[in-house]
Amino acid sequence: MLLTLLGTATSQGIPVIACGCNVCQSTDPRDNRLRASALLSGKGKHFVIDTGPDFREQMLRNQIQEIEGVIITHEHYDHTAGLDDLRPFCFKQKIDMPVYCLPRVAADLRNRYAYAFSGYPGVPRLDIREVNFGDKIPFSGGNIELLEVLHGELPILGIRWGDLAYLTDAKELPARTLVQCKGIKKAVISALHHAGTHSHLSLDEAIAYLKQLGVDQGILTHFSHRMGRTAPLNAELPEGVECGWDGMRILVDSPAFGL
Ligand SMILES: [Zn+2]
Ligand SMILES: [Zn+2]
Ligand SMILES: [Zn+2]
Repeated sequence: MLLTLLGTATSQGIPVIACGCNVCQSTDPRDNRLRASALLSGKGKHFVIDTGPDFREQMLRNQIQEIEGVIITHEHYDHTAGLDDLRPFCFKQKIDMPVYCLPRVAADLRNRYAYAFSGYPGVPRLDIREVNFGDKIPFSGGNIELLEVLHGELPILGIRWGDLAYLTDAKELPARTLVQCKGIKKAVISALHHAGTHSHLSLDEAIAYLKQLGVDQGILTHFSHRMGRTAPLNAELPEGVECGWDGMRILVDSPAFGL
């Protein structure tokens, strides 16, 4: 089982349009970040977490030929704007693409992408499946457990897959989520920049959660350009914590993961 980070930036991406800062001008490929998304791969099958505005580019870059389904963590633009680009997979695989999300998010998608549910020829055929925290999503590559993450006031989806947790757009992890994460060895968690906001963890807050989760490998994602360049930041991070980058692959085990 393998998790690939398809994008590791916050909503504006890095470089930010028209920004001359030293991060946006960096030639280090790790400082070039598409919007946050991840790919789960197991037994030759793929599952996508979030279809942001860079979804098309992410599928082409990683030469993904087929996907089994999609999880939308929440309704924000940087996690949903690529939904229409599921069409090639719907056509090629001749399926209505399963899209798993919370009921609130399902209502939002049906409203914002109303044309996709109109029966008009050529639209993306989406099979919206409403799910809730604690549910398990069937995936040939290893079933996926859904966790609750608080994105400021907004409850959104995190996932546990084998010995890994993927927690994007986090500000707070409820106690129940920490229990569901027992036994994980790796975690991908969002850290916006040094200060954080009402809805995003700061770097120090994210590191504190990684410590609390007790993981061997902590990987940061959903970066703002205000976080600084990757190389100097990595040098400052505690042992076992590192900056994620687009294309990074993380090996995932499923020890007795009885789903
Ligand atoms: Zn910048
Ligand atoms: Zn968000
Ligand atoms: Zn986001």
